[in-house]
Amino acid sequence: MFTHYTFSVAERFMRYVQIDTQSDPFSNSYPSTEKQKDLSRLLVTELLSMGIIDAAMDDFGYVIATIPATTPKQVPVICFCAHVDTAPDCSGMGVKPILHPSYNGLPIILPEDHTQIITIENHPYLKEKIGDDIITASGTTLLGADDKAGVAVIMDMVAFLMANPTIEHGAIKILFTPDEEIGKGVDFLDLHKLGATVAYTLDGSELGSFEDENFSADGLDIDFYGVSAHPGYAKNKLVNAIKIAASFVDRLPVGQLSPETTDGVEGFVHPVHIEGNVEKVTVSFIIRDFSTAKLTEYAELIDQLAADTVALFPGSMYTMTVKEQYRNMKDVLNHHPKVAQYAEEAIQRAGLTVRKMPVRGGTDGARLSFMGLPCPNIFTGEMAFHSKHEYVSVQDMQKSVETIVHLAQIWAEKVD
Ligand SMILES: [Zn+2]
Repeated sequence: MFTHYTFSVAERFMRYVQIDTQSDPFSNSYPSTEKQKDLSRLLVTELLSMGIIDAAMDDFGYVIATIPATTPKQVPVICFCAHVDTAPDCSGMGVKPILHPSYNGLPIILPEDHTQIITIENHPYLKEKIGDDIITASGTTLLGADDKAGVAVIMDMVAFLMANPTIEHGAIKILFTPDEEIGKGVDFLDLHKLGATVAYTLDGSELGSFEDENFSADGLDIDFYGVSAHPGYAKNKLVNAIKIAASFVDRLPVGQLSPETTDGVEGFVHPVHIEGNVEKVTVSFIIRDFSTAKLTEYAELIDQLAADTVALFPGSMYTMTVKEQYRNMKDVLNHHPKVAQYAEEAIQRAGLTVRKMPVRGGTDGARLSFMGLPCPNIFTGEMAFHSKHEYVSVQDMQKSVETIVHLAQIWAEKVD
């Protein structure tokens, strides 16, 4: 199907990354930076020129467009989604993308800062990319493959489908969002207006990878209350909350259930902040697991450790508060098994092996899933994101284009 197709994904990518779209976590406006709209506006222009007549950007910077159905069948409306902003962690101004044709496996020394060297030792995935065409930045900025790889993949998919109208698919929605990197990517998104039944973010990394699971997350505070007294006359009166908290922290698991000792699908309890005085100390945690039920167990563990601690300090007490942060999208996707099944089949039709990657964090796709739009994540090839070492393989991006074309077809095929 793609043998005679000239992919445009790399050429698009090289252009899009040169537009500065960094988001700003300290901004009160939406989108957080106006410059994100520079890319969004260009995308609308390019979509219109490809014949997508409803392509438009709203005041919040969301781009929504529809590839019309090519079949009369009642196919569920699917949406492909990517974010236009780049991470605030690393400069995104004046990005100069460099194409390294058929990568030879040697260290890549970035020309504008020779201390920035991308090696197979530091980036083991690169070893699989020997022979591929690799794109990097020049050493002083990030590249912005996160998520302009996803943006370019979706745009090339549109170009392919518009040039090949005999391929059967239902209506496909395109969505480009701002401010994903600051956790606000879907804050003002009107799902009703979008009108999709399922969605896929194009924001994953390694070739063939597919993410339909992420952490469930709670925040948890323990407040310890001591008894204060004038220290000169405190005998048998004063109970020091700082000492209570120190004793409590010392009881926390160290060799297990900690971010520094876990990976894969293991969860953790993680103290992230402590503050207070003699009278009151607050210890703040984040707790994480792929099983939402486990979060309750972790809270019970912390509760028990706090109870054990105050028992040793007569006169003291504690309270615990738990706040929900986000949830594993799998809890939603389990009710819509086709969403993941079809994606995995599409990856296989592109000739790839599916790599399932649980996300040890939250995603906008997870938020969308809980807003009613099931939304797992598909690979684009973007690697080492948020850093000056960021890189992407052109061939990975092309395979991503193929995958989502197959995926659109599969949704149409499977309708009776
Ligand atoms: Zn991203």
